Amino acid sequence: MNNPKIIESIIPPPPHHWVGNGFKVNGFMPGGIRSESRMSPFFLLDYNAKVEFPPSEKQRGVGVHPHRGFETVTIAYKGKVEHHDSAGNHDVIGEGDVQWMTAGSGILHKEYQEKEFSKKGGIFQMVQLWVNLPAKHKMTTPKYQPITYNTFGKYILPEDNGIVNVIAGSYKDIKGAAYTFSPMNVYDIKLNKDSTFEFDLPEKYNTCILMIEGDSAINDQRVSENNLVLFKNSGTEITLNALTNCTFLVLSGEPINEPIAAHGPFLMNTDKEIQVAIDDYYAGKFGTLED
Ligand code: MN
Repeated sequence: MNNPKIIESIIPPPPHHWVGNGFKVNGFMPGGIRSESRMSPFFLLDYNAKVEFPPSEKQRGVGVHPHRGFETVTIAYKGKVEHHDSAGNHDVIGEGDVQWMTAGSGILHKEYQEKEFSKKGGIFQMVQLWVNLPAKHKMTTPKYQPITYNTFGKYILPEDNGIVNVIAGSYKDIKGAAYTFSPMNVYDIKLNKDSTFEFDLPEKYNTCILMIEGDSAINDQRVSENNLVLFKNSGTEITLNALTNCTFLVLSGEPINEPIAAHGPFLMNTDKEIQVAIDDYYAGKFGTLED
């Protein structure tokens, strides 16, 4: 390596908290990474590490709530996630699938473990990201992108040693499936045991890797399952060595250098905009959705 990306820290899972009764999450952002702009445009990373849920007659999850000013991105690794929103979208994503919801000017939604999955119980594992929107796009019309595993851009490693799934952005000339409002790369990378993959990401992009499955060495440092590697904005090259079969979630994006005003489910630039969001929500401007 001539210009390796320098590792700033390797962060073990922070203490978990519950989102509703369906998502047992480790709050890597904000929380594990303290500064709320450190991984901009990524603002929040809630990680539900593998956990076994017992069968439940009632669907587990979180009821109707609003969002404004950003995008929620949910990646299902184990189990299935069901979604309803006030723009009329209803969807289920299964293992490997992604839902990319642009809350924009305002939306109500509810998020659950899928009905049949809830009934049967089983291993559940997912990630939810909050991707910030640049000020000029915060009030964009809400939209929903269901991105199933087979629609990712795909790069197959030589000798079938693994795969780079491009969820957003690009890898070489392979384009991701998601439309984004600012430049970023989101990769799901799977490597077979003892295989290696080298790639580049821009120096100025904020970059981290979450170890979803397996143990690895990343730029020669050991990384255990469920840990997160945060890189400095220095160097471009990343080398992944799979010590077991591995799944990596790579997040890398151009920082949005704008003020952040965060309050509950709203992510704006100023406190005044937060107050407007709260007022609009209570005035019913986010639409309607039945519980
Ligand atoms: Mn939500």
